[in-house]
Amino acid sequence: MIMPRGIAARLRHLLDFDRTPKYNNGTMANALEKADLPLSQKLGHALNRVQVAMRADSWESFGQGGLKPTQGQILILLSERAAAPRLSEIASELAVSSPTVSDSVATLVEKGYVRKSKAKDDARAVAIQLTPAGKKLIKQLDSVGGAMQTILSCLPESEQIQLYRTMLRMVRELQVSGRIPVGRMCVTCRYFRPNAHKDSNRPHHCALVDLAFGDRTLRSDCPDHEAADEHLAAQNWESFAACHSSE
Ligand code: SF4
Repeated sequence: MIMPRGIAARLRHLLDFDRTPKYNNGTMANALEKADLPLSQKLGHALNRVQVAMRADSWESFGQGGLKPTQGQILILLSERAAAPRLSEIASELAVSSPTVSDSVATLVEKGYVRKSKAKDDARAVAIQLTPAGKKLIKQLDSVGGAMQTILSCLPESEQIQLYRTMLRMVRELQVSGRIPVGRMCVTCRYFRPNAHKDSNRPHHCALVDLAFGDRTLRSDCPDHEAADEHLAAQNWESFAACHSSE
């Protein structure tokens, strides 16, 4: 096939590199494929772009409430918790330092969005909870934000599920490498039974509620989560990942 001159010129510098020929479904890679970047590198670029968009989205949303992103994330975390968490729990959940959380909470107290109280189980510990003004602000932020959610909801459901699985894998890798704390996800929960059923729509099982469920119902922040021990977590992950790697 004759390649248009412009494209050939743009590709030439890439083709000058001594690249190992790649094969695609058993066939020799063509010039365009040889000049391509590794898929992981392209995904990295794509995720960087998503991260930039999300950051801009959160700045825009939280900026409307006069908040910085960490302060907004603390409010969201508090709105999702039935019991008031301690400062150390907030720091662990958001993977930021205790002094950062302490400064952010001090600002939120000043603005009247949160208040400090004694933790129910330890009078010496400080718990943080939303004030009525904080709850009202969260409702407003909910309606302002969500640009990323709108974009993602345009994807067909099957693609959203695939992307969700991929993101869960990435989050788990970050947890295993110690870069973020273990989250309250099904895949790290002691009640999770991956691929316990033959029903491809609902292959997994939650032993806590004794119900089957599918990938789209996998929780990423479940209030009933209890961390599995190391052995069970590794075993569950192997079973979960093996199923998906064969698809
Ligand atoms: S308790 Fe929650 S996190 Fe654990 S398996 Fe059930 S739904 Fe998933």
